[in-house]
Amino acid sequence: MESLQKKVVFDGEAASMVMKELRGSFRSGKTRSYEWRVSQVKALLKMVTDNEKQIIDALLSDLAKPPLETVVYEIGMFKNSCEVILKELKQWMKPEKVKTSISTFPSSAEIVPEPLGVVLVISAWNYPILLSLDPVVGAIAAGNAVVLKPSEIAPATSSLMAKLLAEYMDNSCVRVVEGAVDETSALLDQKWDKIFYTGNGRVGRIVMTAAAKHLTPVVLELGGKCPAVVDSDVNLQVAARRLISGKWGLNNGQACVSPDYVITTKDFAPKLVESLKTELENFFGKNPLESKDISRIVNHNHFARVAKLLDDEKVSDKIIHGGEKDESKLRISPTLLLDVPHDSLIMGEEIFGPLLPIITVNKLEESFDLINSRTKPLAAYIFTNNKKLKEQFVKNVSAGGMLVNDIALHLIVPTLPFGGVGDSGTGSYHGRFSFEAFTHKKAVLYRGFGGDASLRYPPYTETKQRV
Ligand code: NAD
Repeated sequence: MESLQKKVVFDGEAASMVMKELRGSFRSGKTRSYEWRVSQVKALLKMVTDNEKQIIDALLSDLAKPPLETVVYEIGMFKNSCEVILKELKQWMKPEKVKTSISTFPSSAEIVPEPLGVVLVISAWNYPILLSLDPVVGAIAAGNAVVLKPSEIAPATSSLMAKLLAEYMDNSCVRVVEGAVDETSALLDQKWDKIFYTGNGRVGRIVMTAAAKHLTPVVLELGGKCPAVVDSDVNLQVAARRLISGKWGLNNGQACVSPDYVITTKDFAPKLVESLKTELENFFGKNPLESKDISRIVNHNHFARVAKLLDDEKVSDKIIHGGEKDESKLRISPTLLLDVPHDSLIMGEEIFGPLLPIITVNKLEESFDLINSRTKPLAAYIFTNNKKLKEQFVKNVSAGGMLVNDIALHLIVPTLPFGGVGDSGTGSYHGRFSFEAFTHKKAVLYRGFGGDASLRYPPYTETKQRV
């Protein structure tokens, strides 16, 4: 009988209904008050606290994500975002008094933060809780109505969020629409006041094109190949451990800020490789394909994509560690490759999986040109104690963000904006930047009726023109 049941379709008509309802709620002014915003942020906090076990289970089902990773990187980071908002929101909402110019004397001026309206958040599968709820809470803090479209590639988490947000949130202003390309396309046809998209650049272009039709501004949180440069003067064990935890310990390399490739000197490479091998075994044991401390590859399509990078004949003799595959379990063991050619498949696209190529150079300064010759990465890392090298790296390498002597931690600092540059994205969020991403800064000038110089009014006599 199930096949006879009517399939619920989310099409253009349904999208326009959702938009109409949320537009009505926004126009009622409800989302603008401090009280509404705080009540919704608190509801989200309660939602993730009450349902921690369900969230862990959904991520185990979608990605075999180790529970500790879920608790720290999905739930913990999201709770921190909520707490920062609850502490700072009143201050962020205040108009900012600014100086005026002599030409408008007497006058006063302020910048008034104003919600944009009804916004769309389209999120990705790799951190499906954090990448959905973090922009949503930013949109709410800024006083908007919001529709969330989670990723269909993490179906258990998507349906859990649809259920929980319906239960905990004010549904006249906050909605979840589940689905894939058709549903997202129906949503993208609507006129939004902002679209916040996380995912790959190919779809980023589709989102930006759809937004352009309505002059809708976008935030695009994209990816790229994040380099990690390793100097020889480092604490080798600490550097190796941080590289491993930032690669395989972040969702098995399926993270936008994972190190995609390492650059080190020819002389130092053997030591680095040995240390990486030792620490990999310390972390994941002798049979990492069986480790419960590494997420699996998300699905067969992504498995095939990553396997193809490894099967490329240009790199077959470059694998120096790992390389074992088990498609039935969607696992590839942590794999190191040394000196892969620059025109190999693995160096041609973002890896987004458990492979780590190491490129060697004669002098580390060569890495700057190597990185800058590619599209701009979301994050660039350097491990060094050399002050001059650090300064040169920060000055000369372009990236969305940077971190010296660690991996990924920059994105948990709420005073730093998180976002890309060039091909790795446009716009940013986190902390106050999340509020600003969904806020219009309205310029307001106040004047009285005094100081009404006749100079500005016609007729423009010769005397006036001489002044
Ligand atoms: P994905 O497959 O989940 O796609 C992202 C979203 O786009 C989904 O909601 C999906 O439904 C939608 N989508 C897919 N095809 C579409 C189409 N044709 N039209 C409209 N919508 C469509 O995620 P993904 O792209 O595989 O994510 C991985 C990429 O995202 C990597 O490049 C990674 O670096 C990047 N990423 C960036 C960040 C960041 O914060 N900058 C975070 C995570 C991932």
